Amino acid sequence: MRMAETEHRPTNFIRQIIDKDLASGLHDSIKTRFPPEPNGFLHIGHAKSICLNFGIAKDYTGTCNLRFDDTNPAKEDISFVNSIKEDVKWLGFAWSGDERYSSNYFDQLHGFANELIDKGLAYVDFSSQEVMRELRGTLKEPGKNSAYRDTDVETNKREFAKMTAGDYAEGECSLRAKIDMTSPFMCMRDPVIYRVKHAHHHQTGDKWCVYPMYDFTHCISDAIEGITHSLCTLEFQDNRRLYDWVIENISIDCSPKQYEFSRLNLEYTVLSKRRLIQLVDEKHVHGWDDPRMPTVAGLRRRGYTPGSIVEFCKRIGVTKMDNMVEMSMLEACIRDDLNVNAPRAMAVLDPIKVVIENYEEGATETLAAPNHPNDETMGTRDITFSREVWIEAEDFRESANKKFKRLVLEKEVRLRNAYVVKANRVEKDEEGNVTTVYCTYDPDTLGKDPADGRKVKGVIHWVDAATANAAEFRLYDRLFNVPNPAAEEDFTDAINPESLDVKQGWAEAGLIDNVPAVGAWQFERTGYFCLDNDSTAEKPVFNRTVGLRDTWAKMEG
Ligand code: ATP
Ligand code: MG
Repeated sequence: MRMAETEHRPTNFIRQIIDKDLASGLHDSIKTRFPPEPNGFLHIGHAKSICLNFGIAKDYTGTCNLRFDDTNPAKEDISFVNSIKEDVKWLGFAWSGDERYSSNYFDQLHGFANELIDKGLAYVDFSSQEVMRELRGTLKEPGKNSAYRDTDVETNKREFAKMTAGDYAEGECSLRAKIDMTSPFMCMRDPVIYRVKHAHHHQTGDKWCVYPMYDFTHCISDAIEGITHSLCTLEFQDNRRLYDWVIENISIDCSPKQYEFSRLNLEYTVLSKRRLIQLVDEKHVHGWDDPRMPTVAGLRRRGYTPGSIVEFCKRIGVTKMDNMVEMSMLEACIRDDLNVNAPRAMAVLDPIKVVIENYEEGATETLAAPNHPNDETMGTRDITFSREVWIEAEDFRESANKKFKRLVLEKEVRLRNAYVVKANRVEKDEEGNVTTVYCTYDPDTLGKDPADGRKVKGVIHWVDAATANAAEFRLYDRLFNVPNPAAEEDFTDAINPESLDVKQGWAEAGLIDNVPAVGAWQFERTGYFCLDNDSTAEKPVFNRTVGLRDTWAKMEG
């Protein structure tokens, strides 16, 4: 039994470390955390980290904390706290107890800073930013000691107290750990651990005007919470030295260990909050939850299911190798989900009218349409048929060769779930576009081939003009024209101006009153769609989540 269970689990180097730590008795239970900074919405990269941290807690019957890393009040906001909580829940994960905040520990952190000062391991530095930068050295050259490095403990204590009391302006001084200005790791060259910031904080209000730096805060917060494995992305690899240094030099009896894995990079989008913030602020997109955004909120609005995102994170795995994942990987996950779980329906995105001249005017009939071609348990639904129906403009041509298996003048085609019709003549607008196709139908072809053995190969979708709902369809394309926009000088230059295509068409009646559990339909032949929250009672708005087939490979060419 246990064997079968573990086979379903992902395996990766972090899980191997955990297995080892459990086997050796180093830990008897596992505690992880997900530590977002509340300065933006979560994106699909965060989902990778969420699936890793919460997934481990789940599989090892451990716990995972949600901890807001809120040490930078100027850029943070409670609205981001709320969106992050919503997104984690929506992905299907539950954090242990209440959500936590690094700011919960500001008193303790301040105490540990004083402890370092007492031990001669921290000092208040009044050097200007320029001097600090100069003394820091480079990757090739060691740094040099600050003039304030050897200030005595008493003075440092007094100055830190004054900093804390608000006696100094921002940038006037900072508290630095006294480590090693010649270290090959820049982060060990006496890093700043506290800075002056006269800012209101969403959790602590105006209590503080000094705020601890991330590197100092993170490891201590982990230790306070008893985290066993602190998982972060590779850019923090060097900072692990500082992480361990802080824990070793303060009085706390827990030593969490940091492990790094590679960040998710996804083609044709950006996954850095700084850039996502810019897209929102400069209105390149319609907000954080714009369906073109790689945010969890954007993907949700686009029609992605939580299961498809979790599945994606499983498929990409967790390694230490930097890589760029193809968008088609993500799309395959939602397509696989919706292909099985989304009921079929019909909608016409770019309509022209078909008038069936031998169908009685004012008459209507109800036909049964299967909800899924391969799953009878999904049942059937009633659709209406009458004299006028909408079809897709691209499904009709006045003349075409045999490859075009749709409606052609003087030829026949089957209307899906209904009859065979033949096109007789057309009506055009002033510009010469076909607006109406006049047809006749064969009443003896409902659910069966024509009796005289005529072969009708093509099948097209349609909706009954008498009952259809006018609907808006939003079709999305990749947000950027290049696979790696972050590598451009200005990534906004690579924005695809045609990433949104809005169509006014018709959807079969009854859809909005019957939104399926999975939240999406497959509109036959046009893709998977979900209802957007811009929908009104008069007019539904549908977002195309993804097309029926992978179109990315083609785009590369
Ligand atoms: P950004 O660089 O986009 O601002 P961040 O790392 O600063 O992201 P945080 O809110 O601090 O954002 O991230 C919370 C957690 O999510 C961190 O542990 C971080 O390593 C992880 N994370 C962020 N981006 C990715 C990504 N692209 N792939 C995997 N994990 C990520
Ligand atoms: Mg961060």
